[in-house]
Amino acid sequence: MDFNLTQEQRIIRETYRKFREKELTPEYVRWVDENCDYLPEDMLAKLADLGTMGVTIPQEYGGLGLGMTEFCIIAEELSIASPAVAMCALIGLSFGATPIMGIGTEEQKRRHLPQIAAGKEKWSLCMTEPDGGTDILGAIKTSSVKDRDCYVVNGTKMWISGAHKADYFTTLVITDKAVERKKGLSALIIDSKSEGITVRPIRKLGIHGCGVNEVHFEDVRVPAENLLGHENRGWYELLGTLNPERISTSLFSLGIAQAALNYALQYSRERKAFGKTIGSFQILQHYLADIAIEIENARNLVYKCAWLCDTGRKYDVEVSMAKIVACRASELAALHGMEILGGYGFAMEYDMQRYFRDYKQMKFSPISDEMARNYIAENGLGLPRSF
Ligand SMILES: Cc1cc2nc3c(=O)[nH]c(=O)nc-3n(C[C@H](O)[C@H](O)[C@H](O)COP(=O)(O)OP(=O)(O)OC[C@H]3O[C@@H](n4cnc5c(N)ncnc54)[C@H](O)[C@@H]3O)c2cc1C
Repeated sequence: MDFNLTQEQRIIRETYRKFREKELTPEYVRWVDENCDYLPEDMLAKLADLGTMGVTIPQEYGGLGLGMTEFCIIAEELSIASPAVAMCALIGLSFGATPIMGIGTEEQKRRHLPQIAAGKEKWSLCMTEPDGGTDILGAIKTSSVKDRDCYVVNGTKMWISGAHKADYFTTLVITDKAVERKKGLSALIIDSKSEGITVRPIRKLGIHGCGVNEVHFEDVRVPAENLLGHENRGWYELLGTLNPERISTSLFSLGIAQAALNYALQYSRERKAFGKTIGSFQILQHYLADIAIEIENARNLVYKCAWLCDTGRKYDVEVSMAKIVACRASELAALHGMEILGGYGFAMEYDMQRYFRDYKQMKFSPISDEMARNYIAENGLGLPRSF
């Protein structure tokens, strides 16, 4: 067993660490949190210059052709600065390129992958609906009917990250109402500029720099060639491409946890009470040690998932565990972090409140912790489905 990074991976880590320290300073990230609903274009361009948006896209389609471990290194470094930064940088890869690489046609690969890799196309994933995100099969109403060479789409999608900036939506729709729901769904690539689309931003508690929206489709005509995968196989095929998204979510959590630990550690070395720095009090040391334990635990599990992915093994159960463990690390780091800062944790000019707000999104998106546990129980432990 070898836990070492390769030389190339160490260089990537160092490159992104330096980028984070120079470009994604605490002041910049604070400014994004307070003023932006997406990462500004100039910063996206700098990230695209590094190859960020195409890290796992094959070189023949304009990407770096690297693996999931390299993706993890980059996502972790960016997430330590801010999960919003990491999300905006990687959303096209996760929700556009990865499904296209998995189930797209050669024509779709040639049309979209180089654009995503160059940072010229932004994407969102439209699965969740107003009536539910956990029970998508029970809640989905967005449907399409075939009209000559088009799918005509009607319906509403809810909580769609980055939709206000997206060029394309990877969208799950009903294409056959007559059959069992999961056998009648298809994935469509929908151009956000199509007539009949309305995007309504939703204000939210955290991760302000990557806004979320309701997306309404009214008689939107989608060319038949924009079918992603096979008609009526969308449930199986699209979901099959989304495991890497759980790795991403784990890394966003890991970044929050590491940033909160760094912040709390520094504060505990400077703040004084009873003539000592507060970091010399055992209970606070234990808080910090507990956070460090959870981070180490989460990092090992996330990188194990990357290794399983890179070596072509199944990792669906492990990545559900990683999602929970990393989220727990970010939760513990944010909660203890708030306690370590005392009253200053509550002040908007200190960053701890941002970690406290940001980690909450990771609890339920893209899948809630409860549902991830259901998945582990059923698919990892062979227990009967509980719902
Ligand atoms: C900020 C944000 C960004 C998002 N981005 C996207 C995106 O880009 N694209 C997209 O498609 N979706 C996105 N989502 C949607 C997200 O995936 C859903 O919110 C999530 O799946 C939960 O769905 P829900 O909110 O409808 O909660 P519900 O499904 O209503 O669940 C409510 C509660 O019931 C629990 N529950 C439900 N069923 C069970 C069960 N069988 N066993 C145990 N507990 C259960 C849940 O765990 C949860 O605690 C985003 C959501 C948010 C808030």
